[in-house]
Amino acid sequence: MLTAKEQSELTPDRVIEILQQGNEDFINNRLTVKNTTMRVRKAANGQYPMAVILSCLDSRVPVEDVFHCGIGDIFVARVAGNIVNPDILGSMEIACKLFGAKLVVVMGHGHCGAIKSAIDNVELGNITGLLQKIKPAVTQSKALFKGETKSSNPEFVDIVCHINVELMVNEIHKNSPILKKMEETGEIKIVGAMYDLYSGKVEFLGK
Ligand SMILES: [Zn+2]
Repeated sequence: MLTAKEQSELTPDRVIEILQQGNEDFINNRLTVKNTTMRVRKAANGQYPMAVILSCLDSRVPVEDVFHCGIGDIFVARVAGNIVNPDILGSMEIACKLFGAKLVVVMGHGHCGAIKSAIDNVELGNITGLLQKIKPAVTQSKALFKGETKSSNPEFVDIVCHINVELMVNEIHKNSPILKKMEETGEIKIVGAMYDLYSGKVEFLGK
């Protein structure tokens, strides 16, 4: 678990490296971080996490494990389709501005059920409004993609997942002046990433 000093000495690029190393441990079945009672008690005194990860709700993406992290290491926000809204932005601002996190990651994944539902134009209860936020990614992908633009086509779903992550990163820049400014001054970085359900590997986009 990080101390205030250790957190303050981290750079956004170093945090990406640490997360990549943690992901290597996950892929190679080397998870050793245990959230023991002692660690729980120690964490109660304060928190200095290194990053905030926005992930999909998907049960197959265990975010802390994926980065070999435990209690106190990362903030995790989860919502179907890893979409950004004002409350998510507020949570990211808390993580970075108030608690010193150095990196914002929007992490999508392939075969995403929320993305497939957006492609299928599912309309049901509160799901309708949520999927509305994914629609721009579907529209952009349809303009780019040459093959069949259906949820049954994994290649198309994959493109929509990628573009959705990119658009959510843009949303953060557009709608959080606080985070944008922090990125401009080098205090934080805001990056996209994709989690591969088959290999367990996280690919940081634009790296
Ligand atoms: Zn998903």
